[in-house]
Amino acid sequence: MKTPLTVAYGGGTNSSAMLIEMEKRKVVPDLILFADTGGELPETYEFIANFSKWLVSKGMPEITQVRYARETLEENCLRSNILPSLAYGFKSCSLKYKVQPQNKFLNNWQPAKDCWQSGGRVLKLIGYDAGEARRAKDYDDKKYIYEYPLVRWGWNREKCVQVVTEAGFKPAKSSCFFCPAMRKTEVLQLSKTHPDLARRAVLIERNARLKKIKGLGRNWRWEDLIRSDESQTRLFDDLPDPVPCGCYDG
Ligand code: SF4
Repeated sequence: MKTPLTVAYGGGTNSSAMLIEMEKRKVVPDLILFADTGGELPETYEFIANFSKWLVSKGMPEITQVRYARETLEENCLRSNILPSLAYGFKSCSLKYKVQPQNKFLNNWQPAKDCWQSGGRVLKLIGYDAGEARRAKDYDDKKYIYEYPLVRWGWNREKCVQVVTEAGFKPAKSSCFFCPAMRKTEVLQLSKTHPDLARRAVLIERNARLKKIKGLGRNWRWEDLIRSDESQTRLFDDLPDPVPCGCYDG
């Protein structure tokens, strides 16, 4: 019995680089799965659609999208007055919205069922890069064998960016637009490029009943950061454009 080869595709630079290299090496997976939390940036959805077409044009399978059926992560946070669990130091948002929908799909996928029935395990490739080798764990799992090709190839983030760029795509990180792992610079960037999404993230934050943490930044609130940035920007609104430097002598 052939071991089914599946890819847990994350929609970002690393797992895209992994697939580009697999195509180059003519390693064709049986299934590429992407779990959609419902909170990716519009450009990420666009990228995934284009990347999927590119894969098909190269004889690879299209990207199969799966979702937690009941509601998006944003809806879940709003309904339950909570933040994504990462804000409290747990990973259940990723387990519930990323890992479980993929596993559920695989539980009903015939090649996986046949494989398990004959006592085998399904091979799952994950795109952690060499700089994240500590995440590449050798799980003792009855159903899956986990493999981390980028770690094996010694590909770091820079190498992945280069490979994705050379294939004609714009490298970008994939994550929920309200992810508590976002750095302050990324939050400010979001408020400028996608003010509507930043507003929705702030709504999640305002709506959450918090005791031990302050907001999406855990010990700081996204709303405060965005507000203080806006008021600082306003300070400069009255200045002539271009702003003369201190040693300007007209
Ligand atoms: S991207 Fe962030 S918020 Fe979204 S599921 Fe993953 S850890 Fe949770």
